[in-house]
Amino acid sequence: MKKNLREELPSSLKRVVIKLGSLAITSEAGEIDQKKIDALMLEVSRLRKNGIEVILVSSGAINAGKKFISDNSKKLKDRIEYFQACSSIGQPLLMHNYQMALNKHKLNSAQVLLTHDDLKNKTRYFNIKNNITTLLKNNIIPILNENDSVSFEEITVGDNDQLAAMAAALMEAELLILLTETDGLYDTDPKQDKANHLSHIEFQENFKNIRTLSKSSVGRGGMTTKLEAVRKLTPLGIHVIISSFRPLLPIFHALYNNGGTYFFPRDKVSTKTKLKRIITTAKAGAFIKIDEGAYRSLLRSGSLLPIGIKKIKGPFKRGDSIAIQFKNKTFAYGLSDYDSKDVEKIIGKKSFEIEEVLGFLISDVVVHRDNMILKDKK
Ligand code: GLU
Repeated sequence: MKKNLREELPSSLKRVVIKLGSLAITSEAGEIDQKKIDALMLEVSRLRKNGIEVILVSSGAINAGKKFISDNSKKLKDRIEYFQACSSIGQPLLMHNYQMALNKHKLNSAQVLLTHDDLKNKTRYFNIKNNITTLLKNNIIPILNENDSVSFEEITVGDNDQLAAMAAALMEAELLILLTETDGLYDTDPKQDKANHLSHIEFQENFKNIRTLSKSSVGRGGMTTKLEAVRKLTPLGIHVIISSFRPLLPIFHALYNNGGTYFFPRDKVSTKTKLKRIITTAKAGAFIKIDEGAYRSLLRSGSLLPIGIKKIKGPFKRGDSIAIQFKNKTFAYGLSDYDSKDVEKIIGKKSFEIEEVLGFLISDVVVHRDNMILKDKK
C-alpha cells in the first residue's frame, strides 16, 4: 500500500466515513458480492492498521432482500412495506457478509441503524455519538444504515448520502468518501467521448454551476444527493471525495490514486466552529463547578470525572452543553453525559461508584474530552 495520501488531504487523517452504494456490494439482481466486500474490508483493515478510524455507511439491504419478498402486485411494490420487508431480510444478510470478510483481519463489525428522528433528537444524537465512539475505541467497524424497517415518510433520512453526511458531521470525521457508479464528476455526460473528468473542485458556497447526472436504478441517491452531502460538509471543513466503486481497491483508488472528484472544504473552521456550536448551545444559567485537580486534568486534555465536581446548577439534560467553572470563572464548555439530577447524586464519587449510586452506568465521566472545548483554545 502506498504511504502517501492524496496531497489535498490532511497528512494526519484520523477518521473517515465511507459510504457504499447498493451496487458497490450487490448486483442489479440483488446478489451480495462477497469478493467486492472482501476487497473493501481488506482496505478498511489496512486503514485501521495505519491508525485511521473507519465508519461505514452501507446501502444494499433492500436490494439484497428483494428476491425473498414477492412483488407481483405493482401497488405493493410501491408501498413502503415492501421496502421495509426487503430491508429486514437483507440487512442481516449484509452484516453476515461484512463480518465474514472482517474475520480474515480479526476485526469485528457492529450494526448501527438510524432514522432521521434519531439524529434530530438531541439526546439520541448524543447517544449515537457515544455509541460509535465506543465502538471505534474498541477497534470495531461501525456499519451504519437507515433503519428502513421502522422508517416511514416523516422520519426517513431519505437516502444514505444524507445519512453519511450526517454521520461525518456527527462524528467529526475529516473526510467522507462516497463510492458510486461513476468516478466522480465530469464536465458533461461521461458516456460521451468528449467528457472531461473533474479531479478537483474548489470550495464554493453552493456548487450551483455543477450539472448532475442521472441516478442508478438501484438505491435512492444519485449525483444530486451526493452534491447535497458536499454542500453540507465542505463549509464545516470536511473533505469529500466522490469516487467509483469499480476499481479493484476502490477506497485506495480514492485515497492514494487521485481517483474520483475531490471537493475542497472551507479552510480553517474546525476548532472554531466546534467551539461556537458548543458555546452557542450552552444551557443558560446551568454550570458545573470543579476543583483544582479536575481543572488541571482538563487543561491536560482529561475528561471531567464526578470526583472533581464540587457543585452544579441545573436543570440540564444529558447531551446539553454546560459551562464548566473553576474559581467562579467559566473556562470550558462541554456536553454532559448525565442529567443534572443524576450528576447531583454522584458529585465527589469515584467513577466505579457511579453504577452503584445511580443503578445504571452511561459513562465513566460526566463530560467526555471529545465533547468539551476550552474557551481559550481557539
Ligand atoms: N437503506 C437502503 C438500503 O439499505 C438504501 C438507501 C439508499 O440507497 O440511499 O437498501
